[in-house]
Amino acid sequence: MGKIILTGDRPTGRLHIGHYVGSLRERVALQNSGKFDEIFIMIADAQALTDNADNPEKIRENIIEVALDYLSAGLDPDKCHIFIQSQVSELTELSFYYMNLVTVARLQRNPTVKAEIAQKNFELSLPVGFFTYPISQAADITLFKADTVPVGEDQLPMIEQTREIVRSFGNIYGEGILVEPEALIPKNKACHRLPGTDGKAKMSKSIGNCIYLSDSSEEVKTKVMSMYTDPDHIKVEDPGKIEGNTVFTYLDAFVKEDSFEKYLPEYNNLDELKDHYRRGGLGDVKVKKFLIKVLEEELTPIRARRAEYEKDIRKVYKILEDGTARAREVGMKTIAEVKHAMRIDYFEDTELIESQVQKFKAKHE
Ligand code: ATP
Ligand code: MG
Repeated sequence: MGKIILTGDRPTGRLHIGHYVGSLRERVALQNSGKFDEIFIMIADAQALTDNADNPEKIRENIIEVALDYLSAGLDPDKCHIFIQSQVSELTELSFYYMNLVTVARLQRNPTVKAEIAQKNFELSLPVGFFTYPISQAADITLFKADTVPVGEDQLPMIEQTREIVRSFGNIYGEGILVEPEALIPKNKACHRLPGTDGKAKMSKSIGNCIYLSDSSEEVKTKVMSMYTDPDHIKVEDPGKIEGNTVFTYLDAFVKEDSFEKYLPEYNNLDELKDHYRRGGLGDVKVKKFLIKVLEEELTPIRARRAEYEKDIRKVYKILEDGTARAREVGMKTIAEVKHAMRIDYFEDTELIESQVQKFKAKHE
């Protein structure tokens, strides 16, 4: 059995630095590690439609934006297959069979879905498709027999639910067809749920508190300069708080070993900078200027690659088409195995017709 990755994003907006530190940066590293046999990166348009059914144009527009973000962040179409979920109909088929293996009570217990339902104020207008998206996510992962799923921390309950579905399937229809996946979440805690520039719990495309991978230098500068810090740290001499201070959380997520030497040599490391801020005597502007330099180092090459790909949008669609073709190829193979295990492969099963012929013949003898 090879080592396989499946992961993806909803095309509900351009990708932001939360996606980058939460999952995208890790994917690029895994891709370049050479340790994986096949890597599937999915643009989850069908999942995005579960809570955007009335706005298909938004999803359609954002498919290309997300594809550009992927390529500019360093995903390489020679090393991974980038594909569009809705074009792999085997995913829908597999979800339909998995629905019989999951109870309503179990879906209601999923903490991420619970939180999202509350956040979106669905109440009784909750679309069935949205409610069941963890099932479709289990199909996404298992159709490709992925063993590794690099995702943000909010996705852990989905992976757990996927593992349960794989076990149920194995118990009923036979082991060895599906693979139980493992989530891979960033080791750095600051990357788990990067807060928005407004200091709110999560940077999210739906809230609009994001620094996008495709933002210009000017936009990044403006957003960082107006970012939430410690509201009680008014004068430079005031002692400041690090906890809940978004500027420091971003530094935790982005600072590299050589960042201080390059951009702020009067400090040796982030701990020294934090200590000074706590003591007082260090102004927000200085810390923000440092953050801008650290972010710019990461975002500049991403921006440059995006500009190149933007000049050849046809090529980007071709990358998606090729990736989707490979995803379908693998999907069709798994679906055939699943249907065989579930005993619903009537026309492929040559013995079936013969045995039925014999059974009815015996009846008339
Ligand atoms: P939406 O609001 O449409 O749900 P989103 O911003 O939550 O969009 P998703 O497409 O749902 O983005 O998530 C894609 C991936 O990025 C997931 O693996 C998720 O865990 C991760 N992710 C999203 N937001 C953050 C964040 N702020 N910090 C870290 N990881 C994140
Ligand atoms: Mg989300």
